[in-house]
Amino acid sequence: MRINKITFIIAMEAEAKPIIKKFSLLEDKTFCPGLPMRSWVGEFEGTNVSIVINGKDSGNGLDFIGTEAATLATHLAIEKFQPQIIINAGTAGAFASKGAHVGEIYLSYPKVVFHDHRVDIPGWRPHGEGHFKVWDTEQLKTLGFKYGIVTTGSSLDMLPEDEKQINRLGGKLKDMEAAAVIWVASLHNIPAFCVKAVTDLVDSGKPTHEEFLENLKFATTNLAEGCFKIVRFLAYNPNIRLK
Ligand code: SAH
Repeated sequence: MRINKITFIIAMEAEAKPIIKKFSLLEDKTFCPGLPMRSWVGEFEGTNVSIVINGKDSGNGLDFIGTEAATLATHLAIEKFQPQIIINAGTAGAFASKGAHVGEIYLSYPKVVFHDHRVDIPGWRPHGEGHFKVWDTEQLKTLGFKYGIVTTGSSLDMLPEDEKQINRLGGKLKDMEAAAVIWVASLHNIPAFCVKAVTDLVDSGKPTHEEFLENLKFATTNLAEGCFKIVRFLAYNPNIRLK
C-alpha cells in the first residue's frame, strides 16, 4: 500500500529544523493553542507530511525533552493528523563497543523498551519495561541504515545500573522519548518506529553532554537526509505493509 499520511514526532527544535527545511514544511499555527507543542505540515509527492515537536519551556527557553512531553505530543499529533504511520525521529546515544559511529542512522527493530523502569514485583518487570513492538522496519532494508533496539530513560547520563539494564535488554541506542512515542501510537493502533542519528557514544569516556553538543549539527543533517529517504520510499513503494 502507498503511504500518504506520515507524522514525525521529534523532541527538539534543533532536530526538527533540518527536516522542516528538507520538506519545505510550513508551521500550522492552529495546532494545540495554549500548549507548547508545535507542528509543521506540507506535502511530498502527494504524501502529507507533518512534524510535531515537544516545544519549549516559556520560562527558560529550553526544549521539553523526555517521555512526558513526548507522550502528550504524540497524542495531540494523532488526534489532529490521524497518520497512517508515526516516525519518532531524533538523536540518540550509542555504543562504540557495539560498532556504532557518530552520525550513523539507526532504525528501531524489533522493539523499544524503557531501561530505567525497574519494577521488581513478580510479573511486573516486563510490564514496566514496555517491550513495545515497532512497525516492521525491515521493509526499509534497501535504504542501508543500521538496526537495533532503542532503550528509553529519563536521563542523558548513564548510571552503571542503566548500563546493566541496557545490556540485558540488548539495547543499541539510548534516548529519552522513543518508548513513550511508540507506546502512545500502540494505544491508538497506529504503526510506529524510530529513526535515530547518533550524537554521542556513551562508552567513549567523553562526557555525553559535550559530545552531544559537538555532534548535534552533523547528526541532525544526516537525520534529515535519512528521513527524506524514508518518506520517499514509503510514498513511492506500493508494496509497503502497514501491519
Ligand atoms: N544538553 C542538550 C539536551 C539534550 S538531551 C541541550 O540542551 O541541547 C538529549 C536529547 O537527545 C533527548 O531528546 C534524547 O532523546 C536524545 N539523546 C541523545 N543522546 C542521548 C543519550 N546518550 N542518552 C539519552 N538521550 C540522548
